Amino acid sequence: MRTPLSRAKSCKFKIEDVVPGKIFITLLLVLGLLSAAAQAKGGRQQNQIILLNDAASAVEDSYPQLSKRLAQYAAQEEKEWEAQNVKGTPKPAAPMTAKAKAEEQGEIKNIKEAARDIAGTYPLIAKALDRMADDLMVQGLESGMQEADFLSIYPFIKTRDFRHKGLDDWLTYNEPLGDPYDRLITFHFHGGKMAGWKFDDRPEVVKEYLEENCFYRPPSLTYLAVKDVLERMPYKDFLSATRRARPMLFTEFYNEGTARFASSSEYILTKDDPPCCSEGFTIIKLGMSLGLAKTPGPIEGVVAHEIAHRVLNTIRKGNVNCDAERAANRLIIKWGFVKEFKEASQLFGQKKGDPAGCQEVPHKTNVK
Ligand SMILES: [Zn+2]
Repeated sequence: MRTPLSRAKSCKFKIEDVVPGKIFITLLLVLGLLSAAAQAKGGRQQNQIILLNDAASAVEDSYPQLSKRLAQYAAQEEKEWEAQNVKGTPKPAAPMTAKAKAEEQGEIKNIKEAARDIAGTYPLIAKALDRMADDLMVQGLESGMQEADFLSIYPFIKTRDFRHKGLDDWLTYNEPLGDPYDRLITFHFHGGKMAGWKFDDRPEVVKEYLEENCFYRPPSLTYLAVKDVLERMPYKDFLSATRRARPMLFTEFYNEGTARFASSSEYILTKDDPPCCSEGFTIIKLGMSLGLAKTPGPIEGVVAHEIAHRVLNTIRKGNVNCDAERAANRLIIKWGFVKEFKEASQLFGQKKGDPAGCQEVPHKTNVK
């Protein structure tokens, strides 16, 4: 029986196999086309077979080994295609074994590395290769797949973030699985069946993240402010500051009412949950006085500033001083929170007579 991502096994080309030159470009173009072909339903497998055979002929003289592999791949595809035609209907996707999954991830990584290597010289080809790697990854995860089968490939314990609502589940993983800094893939299930997947679906990931790590709930303005900052800050910084090994927790901080004396919250983690916080966590305490704001803007300025401290690693580096405050402000301006920074300064900034704080040096804050 065909394993869902078996195609990837025949794509074992490495960048050294195909030295730069005309044929290299031709081959990569063909591989890029394969990716496009793989997306089209219907005759997709037929197109792939034709393209693979063409590619094999094209490189036959110069790269016999590569040509052989391409031809083998085409033959394998053809066999599968014929088998499917005999039965009339395509076979349902079979779950992969953990070993096959690991091999698969290795193949995808190779293709992605190849794409990165050539990105400077051949950006379009690199993009096509990258897309091909993505296709290979999700090819076997057909829509309608049972959630239980899916979880045997992508174990729940490996999720980065997740959300459950009524009949719907969203599960987000690092892609590749072991790399929290590259990109994310979110799978959506409805009624226990896969309904779709999406790469770098940031609004959804933020929603999932906040459900687990934010003690404010919508429609509170503070929640909306945190959400907006996480959606707008640079993606790489977002990935780093919200990764599971070292997340940021957004908690309430009471400075009025009886709770100003003490309060407690729970962060609940069961043995079935994906582990968290192996590198600690950052607690961002958001005071109830932020409620003075009538719009999320000024709160966003404050939230972005605190997240900037996390990105700059202010506390862990021992930089708790006025320079660090100004650095955090400079960073959020660089991120594009110019308006929010101004609004926050007006509403929550140091006033005359306040205990000593860090006065901003106006010209400096405008430096990028
Ligand atoms: Zn600060």
